[in-house]
Amino acid sequence: MADGHKVSNIEKTKTPAGSDFWPVVVERACEYAKGRNLTAIKIGTAGAIDGDIVNSSRAETSFALGKELRERLGAPVKIANDLYGVALGELKEGAAKSVKDGLVVTVSTGLAAVVIKDGQILPTPDRLDDEFGHQEVPGDLVDPEFKRRACTCSRKVCYDRYASGSAVYDRARQQGMELKENRDFDKLAETGNAKALELYEDEGRLLAEWLAEILKKHPVPVVIFQGTFARKGMGFLLLPMAERLGELVSEIPEIRLGELGDDAGLIGATYL
Ligand SMILES: [Zn+2]
Repeated sequence: MADGHKVSNIEKTKTPAGSDFWPVVVERACEYAKGRNLTAIKIGTAGAIDGDIVNSSRAETSFALGKELRERLGAPVKIANDLYGVALGELKEGAAKSVKDGLVVTVSTGLAAVVIKDGQILPTPDRLDDEFGHQEVPGDLVDPEFKRRACTCSRKVCYDRYASGSAVYDRARQQGMELKENRDFDKLAETGNAKALELYEDEGRLLAEWLAEILKKHPVPVVIFQGTFARKGMGFLLLPMAERLGELVSEIPEIRLGELGDDAGLIGATYL
């Protein structure tokens, strides 16, 4: 719930499995809305947004989420890309508050970036292929041994599936690390496990390659990192990332961590 920009009664639920998950999401939203007096519904979700319609990299077909919820709940609906919501939160109340030109990136299950220009967030694309996260990883950076998760974008190998936090955990498991949960990886890194540290270093350099491509088009003085993986791993990622960036761009931007934690997207959505 949001009263103005104050969020409360946050309920978390696991993302439904499978590619036909939108009807499940709609049902859960309707359950949550029962008995609550809604004047508006504001949504931040992964994927490319085209008005009412969401194109998720996990779903086979697009889904008219806005229309569905408006008809079911009888309130106006606004939808934005989840990172747009995160960036809006950080811009209004967090680490991007005084930023005129910058990037907000998330490294978590996926990989995504939005641009802040003249204090405004540039609109996110309505096609998955146009998102920064779904650009092609150059062939010389690709390890053919790594079995990455499938993506619905048209790239041969996209950064989202190759350099996200999930990709690092997948790589660790494929290289024989025994992880019951993803956070076991971070625990190993903290105790100085060589393999975990090496994977963090590789990831830092990969993120630098990805960021450099974006910075060539949008040279900005500051990059704000959000997403669980980046927030937990920045201590390990920062140095290799900055070193590689120094070789790829003429000016290394200031790297900051987001300030609003997991709630950034929810807080940002209240500003939609
Ligand atoms: Zn992709």
